[in-house]
Amino acid sequence: MPIRVLDSTLASKIAAGEVVERPASVVKELVENAIDAGATRVTIEVQGGGIESIRVSDDGAGIPVLDLELALERHATSKIGDENDLETISTMGFRGEALPSIASVSRMALTSRARGTEQGAYVRSTGGVLERKGAAGTSEGTSVVVQDLFANVPARRKFLRSPAAESSRIHNAVTQIAIGHPHVRFNLISNGKDTFSSPGSGELRDVLTAVYGQETVQALLKVEGTDKDGRRVSGFASSPSLTRANRSGINFYVNRRWIQSRMLLQAVEEAYRGLLMEGRHPLVVLHIDIPAVEVDVNVHPAKREVRFHHDGAVFSAVQRSVRECLVAHSPVPLVTARPAQPGAAPSGWHSPPAPTWGGQGSFQTWPIPPAGRDSDGTDGSATDTEHEARLPAGETLPALRVLGQAGQTYVIAEGPQGVYLIDQHAAHERVNFEKVLRQVEEKSPEIQGLLEPLAVELLPEQVQTLEEWRDTLHDFGFLGEPFGERAYLIRGVPAGLRNASPDQLLGEVLETLQQAKDTSQALESMAASIACHSSVRAGDTLTHDEMAALLRQLEATRSPHTCPHGRPTMLHLSASNLEREFGRR
Ligand code: ADP
Ligand code: MG
Repeated sequence: MPIRVLDSTLASKIAAGEVVERPASVVKELVENAIDAGATRVTIEVQGGGIESIRVSDDGAGIPVLDLELALERHATSKIGDENDLETISTMGFRGEALPSIASVSRMALTSRARGTEQGAYVRSTGGVLERKGAAGTSEGTSVVVQDLFANVPARRKFLRSPAAESSRIHNAVTQIAIGHPHVRFNLISNGKDTFSSPGSGELRDVLTAVYGQETVQALLKVEGTDKDGRRVSGFASSPSLTRANRSGINFYVNRRWIQSRMLLQAVEEAYRGLLMEGRHPLVVLHIDIPAVEVDVNVHPAKREVRFHHDGAVFSAVQRSVRECLVAHSPVPLVTARPAQPGAAPSGWHSPPAPTWGGQGSFQTWPIPPAGRDSDGTDGSATDTEHEARLPAGETLPALRVLGQAGQTYVIAEGPQGVYLIDQHAAHERVNFEKVLRQVEEKSPEIQGLLEPLAVELLPEQVQTLEEWRDTLHDFGFLGEPFGERAYLIRGVPAGLRNASPDQLLGEVLETLQQAKDTSQALESMAASIACHSSVRAGDTLTHDEMAALLRQLEATRSPHTCPHGRPTMLHLSASNLEREFGRR
């Protein structure tokens, strides 16, 4: 075929793909337009996951009657005039692409009345072709209705998930924007039901409460910092006791725009260094306010990424303000993974006692040092012990003999190289974790059937996750079937459940699956959840035989030294250390 310039309708249909991927991206664009128009109230109503219809109305500045038709044209925008404006973008939109793109793949009605004018107007189009226009009696502000999305692009329509799944993406899109704009009042109504509203009080804390719930927000620490050049970082960060299995709880807003940034993620991780267990991530919401000239937002069609002119400065502003907040609020001194310094009070145990955050358990992992620490003649200086604290991976346990139980939490045992304190829960978790994974691999889960099937109600995104991972859930021993649109009948769960109800376990596993980055992480996190809930807990009294059996099973595991979350399963007091501490050597 010879080269030709595409006609404009076809060109916008193709370009629409970049901006309008699914209903949630339509909602995002329309809501951002409302914000750019200075709205204080934005109402979003969707039907059928937004595939049937989306209506976004606002009380913003509105569009003058004469401009209305123009708003549907490609590259028509009121937000930038010339190239220089690109350097200092303060609005969410600026490309003039959203309305024409959305219009080209739907039926659209745009109704608006500019602030201070008497009369409003509307335009209506199908597939981007103007069909009707006229006067409209309407209040000040704008409302956009989008129906039958992708009806004329079957390839894209096929790509959409179930209405429930699309609804949940819309929910995420709206909450994401709401967090960026605490002064705007948002209302999301899905199939006639109120599903989210933010108060518009101007307080970030209030929006976060609407999104994450009171309890979570109470556990957040306030972050606040401004560097010498006026770059401001503010928001909230979780104390190290509140963590998630992935990074989805870490969110950045640069000049109120939600963005993805590997660099900023690293800055946060750096701030939390040494405070979180391996594989756990904090909940962090940060507003980064910097002069518009220092950031380029024009690098991604959906504007999800930005470029900073001073990467390093932004990195350290974020890292420092979060770290300072954590240090200032930390209920216990920050401890590094080093045993006591030489000359300090005797510390026979190779590892310092695990400090706790609000009773949630240790936040640091201390692998068991090898027994031969003293035999090399060093004085155990911090550097040496830190070096030695790493046990070669895969090292097996010696045979251990149970001596007793301490605090109904630790098994005390003796081996050829000294005394061991074993955390009964962590040890049992390790045993169960490997067992579950083995059963999954062999496709022979031990299932505990329920006498009466248990009906549970699910959120739309949970229904979606269940569908998506049905076979895997089955491999793990979850039996059941959908019951109506929003409920599920649990008929069986993995055997051995001790400290969670079947519905709790299912809920937790679904959350894990939603957050998993890939299949292998999903399998591991699921196995860890199941292991955790089928293990003895701290506080359970164990008989001598039970403890002996636990140690035999632990010896047989592949990684006996850590639990699936990376906590140590045991501490070791070596025979040579004992001799030294008692002055026998
Ligand atoms: P952009 O937001 O990049 O300018 P859009 O295609 O999203 O491009 O919108 C085109 C223009 O239509 C905007 O520049 C603005 O002038 C006008 N507009 C769109 N939505 C609204 C709204 N809710 N209120 C006021 N004006 C709007
Ligand atoms: Mg826009």
